[in-house]
Amino acid sequence: MSINDSEDPRPIVWFDIDNTLYSASTKISAAMGQRIHAYFVSLGLEEQEASDLHHRYYSQYGLALRGLTRHHEIDPMDFDRKCDGTLPLEDLIKPNPSLRKLFQDIDRSKVRVWALTNAYKNHASRVLRILDLEDQIEGLVYCDYEVANFTCKPEPEFYRNAMKRAGISDPAKCYFVDDSRLNVVSAKRLGWGRCVHFYESGLETVEGGKIKRLGLDGQQGAEKEGIEVISDLEQLRVVWADIFAS
Ligand SMILES: [Mg+2]
Repeated sequence: MSINDSEDPRPIVWFDIDNTLYSASTKISAAMGQRIHAYFVSLGLEEQEASDLHHRYYSQYGLALRGLTRHHEIDPMDFDRKCDGTLPLEDLIKPNPSLRKLFQDIDRSKVRVWALTNAYKNHASRVLRILDLEDQIEGLVYCDYEVANFTCKPEPEFYRNAMKRAGISDPAKCYFVDDSRLNVVSAKRLGWGRCVHFYESGLETVEGGKIKRLGLDGQQGAEKEGIEVISDLEQLRVVWADIFAS
């Protein structure tokens, strides 16, 4: 008898939360960027220095806070309260009935549905609650700011921990959608079976405190990596047609 006999045989569909379950057009990433910038400045950095370091940490670690905890003595929970905790999310996002319907149409006898976020659990739960999706997500893997040297996407360890948490041992059974190309590529390299890059071509987002225009070239190279690119979550009904109730 193998140790996997008790494992749930269903694949898991992992959804990123920020800028995936809501559009970059909400400008939430800009509001986050401003707060994180203010946090860097509060550490005694000049404006330009703060911008540069913010962007460098984001690019290097996938999360500005990851750099802050490595190179500065800061309390990640204080950071979370001041940055994500003060976002006026209720003014920026609201329940989206067609998104809720999309989740409801996923056949749960075929797959499990989890969220995988670089945010702390407070922010993640808040977004899911405002979007009225809390009951549609069976499990949440978040970035645990309370753990010293916490990991985050796109670090392979974060994905491995996520699989452990969800009790799934076969990476091929992990499906994943995220708006960060880096995060998707990392999952794909770990063998996650079906990876989708949510890419809202034409919109602007803020990454590491800098405005990034999502050009028309988002699809380039994706096929080579075996990654699907979509601009609307409704397209999941096509790319993952088999997981939806017919
Ligand atoms: Mg995201």
